[in-house]
Amino acid sequence: MNLEKDFYERIIENLHDGLYFVDQDRIISYWNKAAERISGFTASEVVGKSCANEILTHVDSDGNNLCKGMCPLAAAIADGKPREAEIYMHHKDGHRIPVSVRVSTLIDRKGSIIGGIELFTDIGNQSANELRVKELEKLALLDNLTQLANRYYIEREIQIRFEEKKRFNVPFGVLFMDIDHFKQFNDTYGHDVGDDVLKFVANTFVANSRPFDLYGRWGGEEFIGIIRNTNDHDLKNLGNRVRTLVASSYINNNDKMLRVTISVGATLISESDTMESLINRADKLLYKSKAAGRNCLTIG
Ligand code: GH3
Ligand code: MG
Ligand code: MG
Repeated sequence: MNLEKDFYERIIENLHDGLYFVDQDRIISYWNKAAERISGFTASEVVGKSCANEILTHVDSDGNNLCKGMCPLAAAIADGKPREAEIYMHHKDGHRIPVSVRVSTLIDRKGSIIGGIELFTDIGNQSANELRVKELEKLALLDNLTQLANRYYIEREIQIRFEEKKRFNVPFGVLFMDIDHFKQFNDTYGHDVGDDVLKFVANTFVANSRPFDLYGRWGGEEFIGIIRNTNDHDLKNLGNRVRTLVASSYINNNDKMLRVTISVGATLISESDTMESLINRADKLLYKSKAAGRNCLTIG
């Protein structure tokens, strides 16, 4: 079969997965449509730039910046071996998105490595979240700024989880989260930039949540995550993961990278709990994290 070159180009351009090419210095030479959709960056914004250059800033689940050292793509270019990894990518709007990446090398006719290819898939909970937003909108249960569940919805959800615990003994936990020194952030950069930060923090929760968990905005710069069917160990890991993802996220403002951190209080439902006692305990644990220096989690 002898198909035209642009036939292949069209297929690659419209793949469901993000695809990009880099040369040996990790300068991006190609960026397809799905890469634009998943990352928020257009081809014209990234082609010609180094992927190590604070555009995508891949991090692992501990928040380590992979672009500064050996990212999977650089490692593949160095030793010629393909690799797969699950990492977090920086979205143009600031939040972190979980992606599964597969990298391999670009080889010329003589067999020399001339660059690398990265294929990446969004493994977040995107379509379920779009549905959730539509449903909440209909019921006026949505926080307009962040598109998260509002306080009323969180309370309703907690009541349902109490019922689920009573009838089927399914445990659940809550993460009470508050942005650190947010007043100072607003005072320095303005309320609108503060609003953008609230949105990226919210998007970080949503992009990294499991379908049966719910994140909402409790008020101001306070958020609650309701984590279903969990235990101390998992709740702590999950809370620390979102905390680290927020800390490693940023928005660009006049060429400056602006970051915030969150403090977390985490607790599991106990036999004698009411909604009030559960939230009060989570709030007190959050306060302990603040007192301990912020950007940390206290479980109890
Ligand atoms: P801490 O680390 O102790 O939490 O300090 P903080 O400054 O974050 O805490 P404080 O409760 O004093 O300040 C919260 C600030 O959050 C006050 C207000 O300016 C800001 N805030 C609340 N709601 C919004 C909002 O919708 N948009 C913006 N931009 N800021 C908000
Ligand atoms: Mg607060
Ligand atoms: Mg705060």
